Formats: sequence, structure tokens, C-alpha cells
Amino acid sequence: MRITALAGGVGGARFLRGLVHHLRADYPDEQPQVTVIGNTGDDITLFGLRVCPDLDTILYTLGGGVHEGQGWGRADESHHVAAELAELGATPQWFSLGDKDFATHIYRSQLLARGMPLSSVTAQLAARWGLGDHGVTLLPMTDTPVETHVVVTQGGDQVAIHFQEWWVRHQAALEADRFVVAGLDSATAAPGVLEAIRSADVVLLPPSNPVVSIGIILGVPGVRDALRGTRAPVVGVSPLVGGRPVRGHADVCLRTIGVDTTSEAIAGLYQDFLDGWLVDSEDAMAHLTGSSRLAVVARPLLMSSVAAAADIAGAALALALRVAGAPDQTELQK
Ligand code: GDP
Ligand code: CA
Repeated sequence: MRITALAGGVGGARFLRGLVHHLRADYPDEQPQVTVIGNTGDDITLFGLRVCPDLDTILYTLGGGVHEGQGWGRADESHHVAAELAELGATPQWFSLGDKDFATHIYRSQLLARGMPLSSVTAQLAARWGLGDHGVTLLPMTDTPVETHVVVTQGGDQVAIHFQEWWVRHQAALEADRFVVAGLDSATAAPGVLEAIRSADVVLLPPSNPVVSIGIILGVPGVRDALRGTRAPVVGVSPLVGGRPVRGHADVCLRTIGVDTTSEAIAGLYQDFLDGWLVDSEDAMAHLTGSSRLAVVARPLLMSSVAAAADIAGAALALALRVAGAPDQTELQK
């Protein structure tokens, strides 16, 4: 079975870790292939180093090296380099980078400087974290450098600041007018991205931020068309639990693009290709379930543990098999 997933950072990574656990338990005799298309709109150059927060969160989480409490960064981390940079007066100081994490960014930047594309660099990092042992291939959505910017009003003027400055430094509290993704229009999907969508047996949308994670990946030329055209069922998981984002500021992002913070409105963002949608038990979508071609299943969606995330991933796969009309799991194992 070939599964392709689009993913941002923490929400995506936790879902994918659950998926890997579910597949190991339910398909012990075959190695399903999971191709992850990661968001690179969050990428930023800091201290001369290229940082890819969403890709790294997936690498650390699937590789067993993530700081569980934070959901990002490395476990057992120290911050000597950041402290020394602060002594030097180097900026910015609002983005936390630990020492082990710095090594990732130094290595990535070294390979990029030699001319290696980000997709190949990411493959090197994925090998370090053993993603292949889980049948996972991690692809950046594009090798073209792109950056999500946020247009805000400062002192009466509209200025675009990097997404990370808005999200991390200002905690999304600066009134945003719109998101602009520098470089996205002329970006090319990274090698394998469009093929992974077209040739998948199942396409999954983890509960990643619908605007600044999934929404950015959908903006890569060709991705949305590939999703519309794929023969695979496309099933998504709502990022809302009890009507609210579990963490982060997805509600602010949605408001910025004029969309309500409801599971129904988020499904609407994907309506041209979505076949199935998992919503939290508390977020009923009664009128949608009956009236649309979208198959909706309500269940608990809090990824409170790896086991809980595995159950959610299993429910997403089961819904995909159902909408694909497969009589049982064996149908898709070929
Ligand atoms: P980021 O790049 O680190 O912000 O992570 P993502 O974009 O991948 O995911 C962020 C989204 O994950 C947020 O909008 C959260 O609401 C959602 N999320 C986080 N934890 C959970 C959870 O346990 N259940 C569900 N359903 N969504 C979650
Ligand atoms: Ca992110």
C-alpha cells in the first residue's frame, strides 16, 4: 500500500508517528510505503543557516529525537551556542535554536552551499533519523526556496514580515492582513511529489494547519491538480478539537483568510479533492454528512499519546478504504 501525506510540523509529525505505529501493528507482514510531502513555507535563514522547522519536526519526531513537551526541537537539548550569540548581540534572539538542532542546520546549509537540492539534503537527514526503517520517505514540497510572509500594518504602513517573526516573536497577535508566499508561484514541485500523489493508494491530510501548512503545500504549482486527478481516496483529519485548534493559532490564520474556525469550513478549503473527513466527536457536521459527497466520521481526535494518534491514523485509513469502495483491507494491499 502506498500512502502519501501532506504535512506541516507538530500536528503533522504526531499524526505520522501514529500512522507508522498503526501500520506496524496492522500490516506486520508488508512494509507500506509512506511518502510525506512537507511544508517548506516556514523555512528561514538565521545566522546564515537554512532552518526548515516543519521538516525537522517530522525528522525528530519519527526518529525518536523530538522534545516531547514542546513537540519540536531536540530532547535533552542545551543552548550554549544561542547564549554565546546573545552575548555577541547577534540577532534575532526570538527564535530558539538548541545546540544539537544547530548541527542539523549547519549540515543542511553546508550541503545546500555545495549545490545539493533540498530534497537530497532532506534524504541525507532522513537517513540519519532512520525514516526508511519505517517505510517513510520525506520530500520537501519544493526545492525552490519559498518563504511565507505575513502582511501587517505597522505605524500606519503595510509591511511584510517573515511568518516566523509573526508566529514566534509576535505570537500571531499582530493584526494580519494577508499571507504572501514569496517564490511559490514560480516554484516547482520537488522530484517525486506529484508522482507520489498521482500513484498513491491513499492520500492523507494530517491535522496540520490548513492555512500556513497544508494551504502552502496546495499552492505549489501542480499539487492541487494532482490531488483533484488522483484515483486515490483523499481523507483529511480536522485540526480542531472541541471547535478549537489544539495548539498554535490556526484560528487567527483562518480569520485572516476569511474562513470560520469550524471543521466544516476547513473541509470547504479542500472541497475540490476531499473524499473523507474525520472530525472531533464534539464538532458534529450534521447537515454536511447527509448532503454532500464528503464522507464524514466523528471520533475523538486528540492525539494525547502515540497510541491515540495511531487510532486516529487507523480511522483515517479505514475511512479511505471505505470511500474507495474496497470491501476489505486486502483490496489495497496489492
Ligand atoms: P506546526 O507547523 O508545528 O504548526 O504544525 P502543523 O501545521 O502540522 O499542525 C498544527 C495543527 O495541529 C494545529 O492547528 C493544531 O490544532 C493541530 N493539532 C495539534 N495537536 C492535535 C491533536 O492532538 N489533534 C488534532 N486533531 N489536531 C491537533
Ligand atoms: Ca509549521
